[in-house]
Amino acid sequence: MESLRVKAINDLSTQSYQPEQDGSARITDFYGENVFNLKTARAFLSDEAYKSLSGSVKGGKRIDRAVANQIAAGLLQWAEGKGVTHYTHWFQPLTGSSAEKHDSFFTIKGDGTSIEQFDGDALIQQEPDASSFPSGGLRATFEARGYTAWDPSSPPFIMEIEAGKTLCIPTIFVSYTGETLDYKAPLLKSLEAMNKAAVEVCNYFDKNVSRVNATLGWEQEYFVVDEALYNARPDLVMSGRTVFGHAPAKGQQLEDHYFGSIPERIYAFMRDYEDEAYRLGIPLKTRHNEVAPSQFECAPIFEEVSLAVDHNLLLMDLMDRVARRHKLRALLHEKPFAGINGNGKHNNWSMATDTGVNLLAPGKTPKTNLMFLTFFVNTIKAVHDYSDVLRASIASSGNDHRLGANEAPPAIISVFIGQYLTKVLEDIKQRVGNKFDEQDEAILKLDLHRSIPELLLDNTDRNRTSPFAFTGNKFEFRAVGSSANCANAMTTLNTIMAETLKKFKKEVDALVEKGEKKEIAIMHVIREYIVSSEKVLFEGNNYSEEWEKEAAKRGLPNVKTTPLALDSLLTHKAKQLFEGNNVLNHIELEARHEIELEKYVKKVQIEARIMGELCTSHILPPAIKYQNTLIENIRGLKEIGLKESTYSSQRLILEKISEHISQISEQVSRMIEARKKANAIKDAREKAIASCDHVKEPYFDKIRYNVDKLELLIDDSEWLLPKYREILFLR
Ligand code: ADP
Ligand code: MG
Repeated sequence: MESLRVKAINDLSTQSYQPEQDGSARITDFYGENVFNLKTARAFLSDEAYKSLSGSVKGGKRIDRAVANQIAAGLLQWAEGKGVTHYTHWFQPLTGSSAEKHDSFFTIKGDGTSIEQFDGDALIQQEPDASSFPSGGLRATFEARGYTAWDPSSPPFIMEIEAGKTLCIPTIFVSYTGETLDYKAPLLKSLEAMNKAAVEVCNYFDKNVSRVNATLGWEQEYFVVDEALYNARPDLVMSGRTVFGHAPAKGQQLEDHYFGSIPERIYAFMRDYEDEAYRLGIPLKTRHNEVAPSQFECAPIFEEVSLAVDHNLLLMDLMDRVARRHKLRALLHEKPFAGINGNGKHNNWSMATDTGVNLLAPGKTPKTNLMFLTFFVNTIKAVHDYSDVLRASIASSGNDHRLGANEAPPAIISVFIGQYLTKVLEDIKQRVGNKFDEQDEAILKLDLHRSIPELLLDNTDRNRTSPFAFTGNKFEFRAVGSSANCANAMTTLNTIMAETLKKFKKEVDALVEKGEKKEIAIMHVIREYIVSSEKVLFEGNNYSEEWEKEAAKRGLPNVKTTPLALDSLLTHKAKQLFEGNNVLNHIELEARHEIELEKYVKKVQIEARIMGELCTSHILPPAIKYQNTLIENIRGLKEIGLKESTYSSQRLILEKISEHISQISEQVSRMIEARKKANAIKDAREKAIASCDHVKEPYFDKIRYNVDKLELLIDDSEWLLPKYREILFLR
C-alpha cells in the first residue's frame, strides 16, 4: 500500500490554487462590515443608548440594565439584517485560544409562538459550563460554575463559518466567586492601573491629559505547509511541532526566502484570510516571507492594546480555518522545525494620551522631550526591576524550544536602545554630583528635537537580536511566542509600568516638597533610574555566547526552562506588584502559576508519547526491514563465495543501523519509565520540573539524534514520515 507520505507527495501536483475572493474590491468598501463598532451602532441605537455605549467604550463607564436591553435590541436588529441566527459570548480562557458557546436567538414564548430574541441579560451575562476550563484549583467541582460578562470596551462582531453566521460578544470570564479565569480581565485591569499612573506623571507636563492607553502592534509569524504532508506527520498533528526530522540539504543558509516572492498557493490563502480579517475590522497592513523556508509574517496597523489582543486571537483562529479550506495548515507553534528559525510574535508596545501624543515618540519641543525621556527611562527601569516577571509572562513549553535557538532572543531579558539614546543617557548620568540647576535646563533640550527623529530611524532598528528593543517610537518585545495570547505579556508590561511610574511620581513629589524645581526634580530621578537600571541595557549581539557570560557577570537572570521561569510569579515582589495594582490577587496569581505548570506538563507528556509511538510504529519498522534486506544481501554474497571486501560497506551500514535501532529502543523504554514517574508526582511544580529534567532533557534530543541518523541511512522509498525538505519546500 502506498504510504501517506508518498500519496501526499503525489497529490501535490493536482492541487489548485484559486483564491475564493477575486480580490478586486477596495478594502475600504468592506472593512469592518462585520463589526458593531460605535459608527455602526449609531444607526441602531437611541441617543441615550448610544451615549451610554460610547461612554463605556471611551471612558470605561458602567452601562445600566435598562440601557443594556436597548443595546441588545439594536444588536439583534443589526445582526438579523446580516443573516445571523446565533450568538455567543466570546472569551479568552487560560488555555490560550478563544472559546465560544453558541445559543440561537430562536426561542418559544409561553403561548407557543416562536420568536427571535436577544435581551440585555443575554448580552450581559452567560454561564458556560466552566468546569472543563483550567482554573488552577480555584473552583472545586461542586461549584464548577463560572460566568462570562460583557466587555463593552471591545466591539461585538460576526463570525462567518461556512454558511453559518454567529454574533460574538467579547466577554471576560470569571469564577462564581469572582476570581478571573481568563486573560482579558487582568489585561483590562492592568490598563486601568497604567492609565492612572501614567496620567499623573503626564500631568507634570501637560494638564490636559486625562487618559493614557497602551498601544500594540503585533507581528505574527507562522509556517504554512501542505495538509496531506501535515497529516502524514502525527507529531505535527498532535503536538504542533516535528519531534523528528533531519535538517534538509538546503535550509535557510542562502537566505533566499526572506522577502522573496510569495508562492502562489500561499498567496491565495493569504488573500482569503486577509479578506475575512478586514471584514472583522482587523487592520492588516503587511505580509511577507520570513527567513525560514515556508515561513511568513503578517502585521496590522497598531491599535489600543485590548482591541489588538482580540484581533490577534481572532486572526489566529481565522488563519487556521482558512488554511484548512485551502488544504494547507498554518503552524503557529514556536518551533515547528528544529534547526530552522522559530515563530515569534513581536509585540510593539507604546503608550498614547487622549491628547494624541505617543509617549515614546521623541517630541519636538524641550518640554515634551522631557516627557519622552521620563516615559522612556521609566520603561527601562520597569524592565530592569521586573525582568523576572516579564520572563514568566512569555514562558511556555513551545517558547522554551525557541528562545536561545536559531535567530531568537535568549532567555535573558535585556533592553536595546541604540547608540544615540545610549549617549543621551550617558550624558545625563555624567552629571554625577553636579547638581542639576537652572543652567542645566539646557540638558532638558539635549538637542533632541533636532536630531532624534532622523537618527532614531537610522540607528535604533539595527539590532534584531534583542528581546526588548526601542525602535524609534515604541518598544518591541520580541520574546513573545507565536502561539501565545499577547494579553499575558501586555498585562505584565502595563503593570510593571504602572508600578514604576507610581514610584517615580512619589520620588519626584518628595523632591519638589523639599523645594526643588519640578523639572530639576524629574531630572534627578531620571538620573537615578538610569544608574540603577543600566545593567539591563545591552547593545551587542544577544545571540552570542559572550553575552551569556557577560549577563551572568551582571547578575541578569537567565532562566531557560518554563517550570523555573514561572517561579517568579510567586515571589513576594510579584504578589505586591500584581495585588498592589489591582490586577491579580495572590490567589489568582497562584492559580495562574499552577495552570501554566499544568499546561507545560501536558505538552511535554504529549510530545513524549508521540515520540514513543512514532518510534515503534513509524521509525523502527522500515529500519528493521532495511536491516533485513542488508542481512540477506550480505548472507547471499557470502554464500556464493565472494570475499569480504565486496560486502564490507553493507556491513558498515548494517552496523550503524543496528546501533541506532538498539539506542532508540533502549532510550524510548527509559523515557516511558521516566514519564510514568513524573506523572505520578502530585505537586504541580515538582511534576513540571521532573517532566523537564527527567523526561525532556535527557531523552528528547538523544532519541531524535538516532532517529534522524536513521532517516539518512534507510532506503528513501521505505521511510514513512515526510522529510523536512518535502514539508518545507514542496507546495
Ligand atoms: P518590523 O518588521 O520592522 O519590526 P513592522 O512594520 O512589520 O516592523 O511592524 C511594526 C509594528 O509596530 C506594526 O504593527 C506597527 O503598526 C506597530 N507600531 C508602530 N507604531 C506603534 C506604536 N506607537 N505603538 C504600538 N505599535 C506600533
Ligand atoms: Mg519586528
